[in-house]
Amino acid sequence: MKNTGFTTTSLNVPFSKKDPHNSLQMPLYESVAFEFDSAEQMEANFKGEYVAHVYSRSSSPTVEYFEMKLKTLTKSNGVIAVSSGMAAISNTIMAITKSGENIISSNQLFGHTLALFNNTFKEFGFETRYSLLKSEPDIESLIDEKTRAIYFETVTNPQLKIVDIEMLSKIALKHNLLLIADSTITPPNVFEAGKFGVNIEVISTTKYISGGATSFGGAIIDHGNYDWKCNPNFSKYTEKFLGNAFMAKIRKNIYRNTGGSMTPQTAKLQIQGLDILELRVEKCYDNCMDLSAFFKTHSKIKSIDYPGLQSDSNFEFAKKYFNGVPGTILSFDLESKEACFTFMNKLKIIRRATNLNDNKTLIIHPYSTIYAEFSDEERDKANIRDTMMRLSVGIENVADLIQDIEQALL
Ligand SMILES: *Cc1c(COP(=O)(O)O)cnc(C)c1O
Repeated sequence: MKNTGFTTTSLNVPFSKKDPHNSLQMPLYESVAFEFDSAEQMEANFKGEYVAHVYSRSSSPTVEYFEMKLKTLTKSNGVIAVSSGMAAISNTIMAITKSGENIISSNQLFGHTLALFNNTFKEFGFETRYSLLKSEPDIESLIDEKTRAIYFETVTNPQLKIVDIEMLSKIALKHNLLLIADSTITPPNVFEAGKFGVNIEVISTTKYISGGATSFGGAIIDHGNYDWKCNPNFSKYTEKFLGNAFMAKIRKNIYRNTGGSMTPQTAKLQIQGLDILELRVEKCYDNCMDLSAFFKTHSKIKSIDYPGLQSDSNFEFAKKYFNGVPGTILSFDLESKEACFTFMNKLKIIRRATNLNDNKTLIIHPYSTIYAEFSDEERDKANIRDTMMRLSVGIENVADLIQDIEQALL
């Protein structure tokens, strides 16, 4: 029988070296440096002729195994694990852009990504040009000879909107641009990014992949489907590394020199997270669908957004791109901000917290928290209403969640 299932594959990715004790679990290699047998071997390593782990800021065995698992599961060309989702995003943009150049993105972005683009990178001279990413002419009007990439999130949060990825891929291909997806909300068991023309995937593994908010991490995934000669910032790398130019530039320059590596302890937790990812997503999805059905019938719920629902305007995209599982976050509206706060304060099982894809169900009022620093106009533009709540659905027994919500809505 062929092992085509996600979980089966995850559980059976071989170690790069046989464990001397036949351990079934990847051990935690908590070591800063690794020893050489001889001065000659050491010289060969620094010349690139003998490959081995040297110093854990660059690579280490437990982190490497997490990368190998993710590489196998995403059928990709290469993976680099980093310290957080923000490290994955910043390392990627630093590798592909230099001062005076630009990328195109939607302005419906994770808050700190928006801040990275608008504040940090702006000061470095990297420009972000915003578009709703809905119309081809609109996107094309922003492209010039200094444009390096189109950047998007697979499902925007908390709006829960999906862009037409195939359309973006067509535009990127036509103009030799890189297509970068932040696929944090739609993990690799539901979204096969490479199949839809995404070139680089960035993930906050802190969320789903960590196994339920166990640790901070990020991943940069290269799908091996971009010609790096199209980007002048890779000219030093394309001749020697060919299709691996991006991986080489990140590893040997950006990632190594900025020091955002994943720790071995984190990798150990995230390895276990990958093994139970599919199980957890399935449970969260079932809960999400049951909760959506409940919300739809409740008179105090004014509207509900979850693209997994057949009635949602993005359902067709959810089916096409994410096998019908567009993440497991939903948002809904009550009558007023006061009604939202009263509801939140009455909850007993659902927790008031700002994370996503914990095993616990988490609730937040985005308008007064994540978007507190934004002007009314910016909140309007991003469609953040003061009547809106975001629910990140966990793995509890759904009857308990419904009962908790029912009593809090009374
Ligand atoms: C959380 C998140 C990030 C940032 O990840 P960290 O691990 O917190 O640095 C980026 N993008 C999305 C969509 C996220 O949800």
